[in-house]
Amino acid sequence: MNSHDTEKIAGILKGQGYDLIADPESADLIILNTCSIREKAQHKFYSYLGYLARLKKKRPSLKIGVTGCIAQQEGNRIHKVNQYMDFSFGSQNVMKLTTLLNSDSFQAAIEENDLITTTDLPADRDNGIRALVSIMYGCNNFCSYCVVPFTRGREKSRPYENILKEVESLANNGYKEITLLGQNVNSYNGKCSFPQLLRFIGKVDGIKRVRFITSHPKDFTVELMLAMKEVEKVCRHVHLPLQSGSTRVLDLMNRRYNYETYLEKVKKLKSMIPDIAITTDIIAGFPGEMGEDHALTIKALNEIEFDGIFAFKYSKRPGTKATLMDNQVDEGVKSERLQEILQCQDIITERKNKALEDHIIEVLVDGRSETDPNQWVGRSSTNKIINFMMPDDIPENEAKCIQFLNVRIVKGMRHSLEGEVVRG
Ligand code: SAH
Ligand code: SF4
Repeated sequence: MNSHDTEKIAGILKGQGYDLIADPESADLIILNTCSIREKAQHKFYSYLGYLARLKKKRPSLKIGVTGCIAQQEGNRIHKVNQYMDFSFGSQNVMKLTTLLNSDSFQAAIEENDLITTTDLPADRDNGIRALVSIMYGCNNFCSYCVVPFTRGREKSRPYENILKEVESLANNGYKEITLLGQNVNSYNGKCSFPQLLRFIGKVDGIKRVRFITSHPKDFTVELMLAMKEVEKVCRHVHLPLQSGSTRVLDLMNRRYNYETYLEKVKKLKSMIPDIAITTDIIAGFPGEMGEDHALTIKALNEIEFDGIFAFKYSKRPGTKATLMDNQVDEGVKSERLQEILQCQDIITERKNKALEDHIIEVLVDGRSETDPNQWVGRSSTNKIINFMMPDDIPENEAKCIQFLNVRIVKGMRHSLEGEVVRG
């Protein structure tokens, strides 16, 4: 979501004659797009401030702005503490950027702004094939650990006509894959339901793959499963954050589902779409989590066999209910539990990757690998990243234009898949 907000900011600024550059030392304008989902993310921002202050001192004409969740949380306080800041704005107010840029005194634009749903903003995308598209903003769920409802405001959906117009324009510009973005796409309500939106987008010529993040399990319906099954372009992957395998902890988290209903939904989905890949998020050491709750999370990982997980230590977030809960878990215990979760999943991922050996999989080619430029990288419909060698007889300029390829998996390892191109 933040990456896409950055693309919008870059799109607006390009319209104003700005260009993106890599070196902050020679920039005329620096905008920090911040995240505060966990303390560690927030630290990244604060550890950058001293450097910014020095830059501004050296070059007073430099403009510095802050956006994202920290800007929203801090409001005018950001300027009180950091006098050299020129402006700040929350993600719903990105369309005010040009006005903020021209202001002589510090301004913070952090109010709720419904215009975000109907203002079509230009985005400067860094990839010509895969595009992120916002379908909604904010969140109403108030999971007890989460800062998002406080920093991104109430849920607001873009009307489906605006979304379709954007997707059609992306298709006309050669984009093949769309990822629809929302904190809980299942509660999308932009004059149609989310399953209906998938069906509309499925009809856009030129778009070959459609993904979405994130689905809240409490609102994951059979109607949505049906749309995923029937709309061929919808990728065989769903990210369905479980957070904990213990229903007692899920209650404390205010997730509004229990482990049994989550499991039932996963079983139903697997029976309807057998090749579906399911990934999840897990929080280790939520307040009040006991050894037996943690054991239930490990049991859930083994029972469901996710294709991948993102796991995090619980992090106290200001203003959230969980921050004030009794029985905060000791940092060391959190780390131990996190390690156990990651190790458990590593074994599952390795087993699943190994089982893919010899399978032929269609990938959308991303380009040369950043870690090993001899290799190329592509992504399967199930969102697995596959490394492969481009056949020698394909010249570089042709290779660069290849979008879809069939690849046979030759090696499935713990953290990667290696394939070979299947000709013909
Ligand atoms: N809207 C999405 C998730 C957004 S945040 C959803 O509901 O699934 C992404 C992930 O960050 C969450 O799924 C959660 O696992 C993690 N997260 C959020 N707040 C956290 C916190 N305070 N401590 C640790 N992890 C957190
Ligand atoms: Fe945060 Fe819960 Fe909303 Fe996701 S659904 S953004 S975890 S409050």
